[in-house]
Amino acid sequence: MANIYFDHNATTALDNSVLEAMLPWMTNQAGNPTSRHVFGRSARDAVEHARAQVAEACGAYTSQVVFTSCGTEANNFAVKGIGAIKTAAIARQILTSAIEHPCVTRPAIAMQQHGYVSQKIMVDANGKVDLDKFKLQLNTPTGLVSVMLANNETGVIQELSAIAEAARSAGAFMHTDAVQALGKIDLNFADLNVNAMTISSHKIHGPQGAAALVVDKKLDIQPLLHGGGQEKGLRSGTENVAAIVGFGAACELAISNRANFAAHTTALRSQLEQGLQELNVSIFGKQVARIPNTSFFAIDNIEGETLVMALDRKGYAVASGSACSSDSTEPSHVLLAMGVPADVARGAVRVSFGAHNTAAQVASFLATLNNEILRLKQLTAIAA
Ligand code: PLP
Repeated sequence: MANIYFDHNATTALDNSVLEAMLPWMTNQAGNPTSRHVFGRSARDAVEHARAQVAEACGAYTSQVVFTSCGTEANNFAVKGIGAIKTAAIARQILTSAIEHPCVTRPAIAMQQHGYVSQKIMVDANGKVDLDKFKLQLNTPTGLVSVMLANNETGVIQELSAIAEAARSAGAFMHTDAVQALGKIDLNFADLNVNAMTISSHKIHGPQGAAALVVDKKLDIQPLLHGGGQEKGLRSGTENVAAIVGFGAACELAISNRANFAAHTTALRSQLEQGLQELNVSIFGKQVARIPNTSFFAIDNIEGETLVMALDRKGYAVASGSACSSDSTEPSHVLLAMGVPADVARGAVRVSFGAHNTAAQVASFLATLNNEILRLKQLTAIAA
């Protein structure tokens, strides 16, 4: 039985062409981009080429791209680095949406040790920021607002330029985590009107170990890492040349495939959700715009974790709750923020498609899901 991967929001397999681009930088061409000799100079050229590819993929200037080791680092860099400059005297409030990935909320909470106040921005039942309530929160002097562009669990897309407009008019800096948006929807840093934006390589068939914070040139952000002064002093540490080259190649690939990816995964998701409707499931965020590949649903009276394990035994890799904390048994904080009752949220399962998934896989998944639901319900009835 071949395993079928439906968990592309967690990570994606390295594309062969990306691996090919990376290989020289892990073997005979390896060099430190700060070295003056030919190996160093060609490694520097490779990093700068990748920077241009990354910038192109997200509508930014090359001078705005700061490479980091992962999206988690870029989000920490944004929250701590922007917080440090802006919130100094009066604007000590940091606002993050209630549905952020923990690598945004936890650094915001950590900033409280330094006298900042971290508050949550509420979302409505569809998982979208409640703009009116948010604007009221901005009456308190605010240094930084961070709201993700697309949610990793529901796939719901925020109206980010309106949020950014409100934040910036109130004098706050605006950051967005666009990790789940890159390659799935059109992404343009300038149009979003934000000061900083996070993207990550391994969600788009690039390698783990590379990501970027795209930073407005006027922003006097403070580095997390001090040392040799790489990345114009904003992120010291020898560049991970192979991973950065892979990130660049993956960006180019993602952009050329984006329209096909959207059409293909939208069709798979419609097929899935049509089938789910017959199984009496709740689908979260279905009423609003979502990234095309993601469906998040819950089945009455069945634990998501149990279903994920049962489906895994049958050869289907899906997720329950947040991708990066799927060992947690707490119900999804995203669903709780949307007002979903905890017992329903505990049943949540996420399917996230990729370009290589097929309609036949979705059909067989639906049949297996149906069988597993019946089996688990029978077991529950016997136990009761
Ligand atoms: N932000 C979002 C929305 C994510 O989904 C993830 C990972 O799942 C991250 C940030 C963290 O990115 P990385 O795995 O590159 O640290």
